[in-house]
Amino acid sequence: MDLYGRVLHDVLFPAFERLRGRPTIGLIEDVHRTQWSSRDELHAIQSGLLRRLIRHAYQHTVHYREVMDRLGLTPDDIQTPEDLRKLPLLDKETARTRIPERTASAPPYAVVHKATSGSTGEPFVVSYNAESRHWRDAMRWRAYGWAGYRMGKRAFHYWGFGAAPPKNAWQKWKVELDHRLKRDTYFDCSPRGDDHLAAAVDALVAARPEVIVTYSQAGATLARYVNRTGKRAWDTIPVICGAERVFPEDRVALEQAFGPAVFETYGAREFMLMAGECDAHDGLHTSMEAMIVELVVRNPDGTVRPAEPGESGEVAVTDLHNLAVPFVRYLIGDLATERAPARCACGRWLHRIGPIDGRVAETLRDGKGNPVNGLIFNILFVAQIEAARQFQAIQHKDGRLTVKIVPNEGGLTADSRAKILAFLDKYLPGVPVTLELVDDIPTTAAGKRRLVVVEK
Ligand SMILES: [Zn+2]
Repeated sequence: MDLYGRVLHDVLFPAFERLRGRPTIGLIEDVHRTQWSSRDELHAIQSGLLRRLIRHAYQHTVHYREVMDRLGLTPDDIQTPEDLRKLPLLDKETARTRIPERTASAPPYAVVHKATSGSTGEPFVVSYNAESRHWRDAMRWRAYGWAGYRMGKRAFHYWGFGAAPPKNAWQKWKVELDHRLKRDTYFDCSPRGDDHLAAAVDALVAARPEVIVTYSQAGATLARYVNRTGKRAWDTIPVICGAERVFPEDRVALEQAFGPAVFETYGAREFMLMAGECDAHDGLHTSMEAMIVELVVRNPDGTVRPAEPGESGEVAVTDLHNLAVPFVRYLIGDLATERAPARCACGRWLHRIGPIDGRVAETLRDGKGNPVNGLIFNILFVAQIEAARQFQAIQHKDGRLTVKIVPNEGGLTADSRAKILAFLDKYLPGVPVTLELVDDIPTTAAGKRRLVVVEK
């Protein structure tokens, strides 16, 4: 790191944070220590914070008081993360419709209010208290640190802008100033035509970044463009991927374009960074001091059990620092694979998950109206990864299905076409299917690309 980078890291950033009244720096130092804690110490940290959360939620929210009274539970019954299993899961619909009942009547009150992107349902506003915000920042900086990104390094953010554009000129100026001081270059990743990709490479070369932070799929598209055109003009640049899933093929392309330092992160607007990859590249460590990440399997009879190591489960998150509007066992809508509890090769005991298996997809309907889990398209996509670069399945209101496919070089072979149709006939019998070859699949306003769209 050069001198300005050092000064920014050691002096300016802490000063900015103090001016804003944020204790982020102290927290970042703390969590850099606690990441080396033993398994027992981490369990103790989570247990202590959980007891505080449950006590507060029981005493000061209508929702959790009702839920626990109904089950005959008191806060004393929830002492450890394992005890959480006594409490029900919180689905998105309940979280959204019971915001007043989930909001605590005693301080700390919410100071941050954020709309979620609503990619799997109705959008809603997530609110949290100041402490929760500081922890979010600390967890993000720690995971970024695993990729070698410290405040003060030159970063190239290849990111979507649609989600929250600055509201007015003053805000825009403040954001711009903030980026310049922190030496960040932002480049909108939403358009994905060759002209735009060429411009992105030019901006990347000009920025001489020490790290790239990117939407996973956008970064992979950029990487494939770099590989296809032979435009790589740099040594290794660490790449931090977020917001979308990193498929194995994406990782290969990213490593070829930017070098072998590719780090997946897993986050959501409700909690920010939930897990990040360390330099052992063997799963993602969850943000244990800030939240409890459980992977659960819902049985057909309605009971719930933890996913076994190697098994994929639904991600349920308990935010240990959001006392203002608690989230306890919140089903975020994603699937991830559980890992056996073991010390990582990096030396950390922090719970590991991964791969992240993507969103609990939209529900499609077959020709008779029976529900079919949209996850079949994740399976199809991985099976056809040689044939197609991108995929999107759209079920129209009348039940017809359009599958948009961006084929790899050489186009879609007759064999691939036949396999795709046979697959769809098996899983979605009776549904008329149109395969449509396209050059690109548009992203949502937030710059994400959806695999399955059910028109409503
Ligand atoms: Zn590790």
